[in-house]
Amino acid sequence: MAAAAFDQLRSFFPVVTPTNEEQYQAAMTRPWSQTCWTPAAGYVYLSTVQKLTEALAIVRNTATKFAVRTTGHNPNVGFSSAGETALVLDIGQLKSKELLTTEKGTARFGSGNTWGEVYTWLEERGLSAIGGGMGALPNLHGLGADGVRNFEVLLADGSLINANANENSDLYRALKGGGSNFGIVTRFDLETYPLINVQYTINLYNPEDHLAINQATVAVQQAMEEDPKIGMFTNFNNGFVAVGLFYGDHPAEPPKAFEPFHNLKSLLTTVLPSTNGTLLSLAQAMGHAQTSQKRSICTVTTQASHDLYEEVYKAWVEVCKSLPTGAVLHYTIQPLGKAGVQAGKDRGENIMGLESVPQCWWVFTCEWPKDGSDDAAAQKAVDTMSEKVQSLAKAKGVLLDYKSMTFATASQKVLGSYGVENIKRMQEAAAKYDPNGVFQKLQNGGFLLCNNI
Ligand SMILES: Cc1cc2nc3c(=O)[nH]c(=O)nc-3n(C[C@H](O)[C@H](O)[C@H](O)COP(=O)(O)OP(=O)(O)OC[C@H]3O[C@@H](n4cnc5c(N)ncnc54)[C@H](O)[C@@H]3O)c2cc1C
Repeated sequence: MAAAAFDQLRSFFPVVTPTNEEQYQAAMTRPWSQTCWTPAAGYVYLSTVQKLTEALAIVRNTATKFAVRTTGHNPNVGFSSAGETALVLDIGQLKSKELLTTEKGTARFGSGNTWGEVYTWLEERGLSAIGGGMGALPNLHGLGADGVRNFEVLLADGSLINANANENSDLYRALKGGGSNFGIVTRFDLETYPLINVQYTINLYNPEDHLAINQATVAVQQAMEEDPKIGMFTNFNNGFVAVGLFYGDHPAEPPKAFEPFHNLKSLLTTVLPSTNGTLLSLAQAMGHAQTSQKRSICTVTTQASHDLYEEVYKAWVEVCKSLPTGAVLHYTIQPLGKAGVQAGKDRGENIMGLESVPQCWWVFTCEWPKDGSDDAAAQKAVDTMSEKVQSLAKAKGVLLDYKSMTFATASQKVLGSYGVENIKRMQEAAAKYDPNGVFQKLQNGGFLLCNNI
């Protein structure tokens, strides 16, 4: 099938196949995680929505398997990568940027833009938008998906439609968390705000102080319920605990809410001293350089609980003992408060079925060198962590159903975690906007309704 599609695609678009060795290597090694460096039948570069429409028609008519790639940050194999029988449709060149003059506080971005590019462009105009999945200040204006006012979507039948509160509103809601089940999003119209200032700091602590670090984490999490300008993460890592404290303003003094961390005696070093910046400068300061690593992730959502956080720490210490050589397992506590959930509701509801409680979106991450470790054992480490945390949280009555799409491993039932009503909404939207099931049958990977409930 891929060969038939090639013959047609080649005459219209730049297509990179193994015969263009250098370009092929560059295309194959684009994803963040080396687990996704799988050799596709070819990579098709689509620089305009019109070209993407024509390419999708060829792919559909030849029944060729395909994956859509924007920046390849998702580490699940086959999501934005493909094997020898499938094509990758690369839409990273869709980088249009435009301020809407007709609608105040809205800016349009082609799907190929990174959040760094979005922040840079907006800040040059004194504006901000909320990035994510989950960004640094999730309680301020909600999640990344909540800030989308309109999706421009290419459907399987080749039509290009808008999905917003007034037009195709069922699809609009389904796309706010429903992933790649309905069409290819070609443009996002985002809610903008006057420039959001951020004060931020990142410190490293000694993991032996885990009891106090977890207490401080829960204390800041409680303070988040009172003040939506607070954001934070706590990352238990190999030999250190990294804590990021964020505040959506430039206060003269560091917020009192952060005192539980400032009082800790176990500070190893300050990676990032308290800085008055913006979402862009924070993203640049945290900028993760792409390393030569394989990566695997897994997620669980729970309520805040010091007892649970302590038990998770102990479980992590145990799982680390059985890691394959060269592999590092770390985990991050990522809090979301009630205000963040409410911000989504205020914007017309997303599809994720979030419960209105203070919660933690855990992400367990294993990273290991390309040739150094056993892939299956590394994946097992993150799977084991999520299983253990689920059962620990369940026993304490603090487990939540939700699983975040941006932090989940491929086998986790992300869509199934959104609740019966939302599953039905997504199924109805998929049946209406993709009646022939092109995105279910031909898409190479992803959290798909056909297998993720
Ligand atoms: C260093 C690093 C830091 C991260 N930090 C955060 C964070 O702070 N918060 C957070 O929430 N997540 C974070 N993530 C996770 C990241 O947001 C997700 O992996 C996300 O899926 C990456 O999006 P992408 O555009 O690179 O998609 P890709 O990896 O290119 O694709 C992912 C999936 O989406 C589909 N897809 C992509 N574009 C489209 C489109 N336009 N229309 C339809 N389907 C499409 C693809 O087919 C694929 O199934 C981080 C990841 C990394 C590597």
